[in-house]
Amino acid sequence: MIVIGGGLAGLSAGVALAEAGWRVRLFEQRPFLGGRATSYVLPDGEHVDNCQHVTLGCCTNLEDFYRRVGSDNKIKFFDRLVFQDPQGRIGIIEAGMLPAPLHMTGSFLTFAPLSTADKASIGRALLDIIRGQGHTADLNEAGGISMLEWLRRRNQTPGAIERFWRVVLVSALDEELDRTDARFGVDVFWKGFLSNRKGYRMGVPSVPLAQLYEGCKSQIERRGGEVNLRMPVRAIYCNQGELTSIELEGQRQEKADAYVFAIPHQALAELLPSAIKEREPQLAQIERINVSPITGVHFWFDREVMKEPFLTLLDTTTQWIFNKTQLYGAGNGSGSEGGQYLQLVISASYDLLQKPRQEIVDLCLAEVHAALPLSREAKLVKSTVIKETAATFSPEPGVDKLRPTQHTGVKGLYLAGDWTATGWPATMEGAVRSGYLAAEALLKDTGTPKSLVQPDLPVETLVQWLG
Ligand SMILES: Cc1cc2nc3c(=O)[nH]c(=O)nc-3n(C[C@H](O)[C@H](O)[C@H](O)COP(=O)(O)OP(=O)(O)OC[C@H]3O[C@@H](n4cnc5c(N)ncnc54)[C@H](O)[C@@H]3O)c2cc1C
Repeated sequence: MIVIGGGLAGLSAGVALAEAGWRVRLFEQRPFLGGRATSYVLPDGEHVDNCQHVTLGCCTNLEDFYRRVGSDNKIKFFDRLVFQDPQGRIGIIEAGMLPAPLHMTGSFLTFAPLSTADKASIGRALLDIIRGQGHTADLNEAGGISMLEWLRRRNQTPGAIERFWRVVLVSALDEELDRTDARFGVDVFWKGFLSNRKGYRMGVPSVPLAQLYEGCKSQIERRGGEVNLRMPVRAIYCNQGELTSIELEGQRQEKADAYVFAIPHQALAELLPSAIKEREPQLAQIERINVSPITGVHFWFDREVMKEPFLTLLDTTTQWIFNKTQLYGAGNGSGSEGGQYLQLVISASYDLLQKPRQEIVDLCLAEVHAALPLSREAKLVKSTVIKETAATFSPEPGVDKLRPTQHTGVKGLYLAGDWTATGWPATMEGAVRSGYLAAEALLKDTGTPKSLVQPDLPVETLVQWLG
C-alpha cells in the first residue's frame, strides 16, 4: 500500500499499517518528515522548529504514537502553567489535592490577573460544561454558534473573555473566538481542564521536532516498506470509481492495492481529478475549508534572560514564550555558549501577516523587554520570524460538515489529515487520530479489522456525579 504525505497523519497511518503486516511505501515531497510539526536547519546552522509544538495530557493518540515509534521519552510533561500580565502580576494554574473537576480550584481562586467578578462568571460557565458532561444544549443549534456567542449567553465579563477564555482557546484552536465553533471551545475545557485531572498537563518536546520521527522510518522499513523523501505526487488516476495509480516526478507511475492520502486539504483539492469530485460531493467541498495562520518568532540572546521553561503573556501580541535552551537541556539549542534561545508563539496571527519581519521583531522584542527585565540588558544576537500562513484549518462554526471521513466512496482511496473528520480541531492529536482511523478503515475493508484509536482519558467519578 502507498501513503502520500509524511506528516503526523501519514506517519501514524503508515506505522500502524506496517505493524499490521502491510508493506508500506511512503512518499513525501519535502526532504524531511513531520509536515507542519517539524524542524530544520537554518542557513546559519541553527536547528529550529517551524514553530513550538505542545501536547496535552488529553492527547491520548499522540501519546500512543510517540510510544510506538520510541519517542515518548523525548516529551517532557509540566504540571504548572504560568501566566503574566503587563502589570507583572503572575497567575499559576496547577492541580492541587482535590479530585477533578475541583483539582484547579485553589490555583484558580488565587489567580491574580483575574478579578473576583471574572472568576465568578468563569465558574458558572465551567459548571454549565460539567453539568452537560462536555456539552450544552445550544451547541446543537443549526450551523453551530461561535464561542464568543456562547460566552455572551453566559454573561462572561470582558476580563474573563480576554484573560481566560481567549488566552486558552486562541492558542489551542488557532482562531479568534468570534470565528470558532463553540463545540471545539467547550471540548478544550472539558477534555483539558474538567473531566480528568491529567488532561491539562502540558507536554513539550525536549528535542527539535524532526527527531521525534526518527523511529518511523525504521518501523516501516523493518517490515519491508520504504520511506521516500523529495518525492511529490503529481497526479491521481482513477477508473470507474477506483483509484488505479499515482504519478510522481518524471511521469513515473506507481500502483498499489490501497492509497492513504495524508496531505493538506488544499493540496488534495488540487490533485483530485474532477471525475472524483463529481462522483463524491464530500470531496468536492474540501476546498471550502478555510485556514488560519500562526507566527513563530525566534530570539537568541547573549545571556540568560528567563528562568521559567515557558510563560503565557496576557494582553500582548506575544502569547507564549518558550525557553528553548532550558527545554532542550545542555548542548542543544542555546545558540552561543551561555546564551539563551527563546521561541515566541502568536496564534491566529492575521494582523502580522502583512507586517515586515523587522517590525514583528521590534514589536515582540519590546514585549519581551517588558515581561522579562533581564532581557533589557542582554544583547539580541540574532532573530528569525517564521510565518505559517496556512498553519491549521480554521475551526469555524459549521466546519465539521465540510470534513470528509477517512473512508471514501472511491475504491482504494483513504484519507488522513488533521482536517478530516476526527471530531478534533487541527492538532497533532487530530492528525494521529485521522491516521489511525484511515488505517482502521483500510484494515476493515480488507477483512482484517483492528482497533487502533485510543480512548479519551476517563471521566472521573466526581465529574460524572455532578453531571
Ligand atoms: C506554526 C504551527 C504551530 C502549531 N502548533 C501546534 C501545537 O502546539 N500543538 C498541536 O497539537 N498542533 C499544532 N499545530 C498543528 C499541527 O502541526 C498539525 O495539526 C499537524 O502537524 C498536521 O499533520 P498532518 O499530517 O495532518 O498534515 P501535515 O503536517 O501538513 O503533513 C502533510 C504532509 O504532506 C506532504 N505533501 C503535501 N503535498 C504532497 C504531495 N503532492 N506529495 C507528497 N507529499 C505531499 C507535506 O510536505 C507534509 O509533509 C501547529 C501547526 C503549525 C503550522
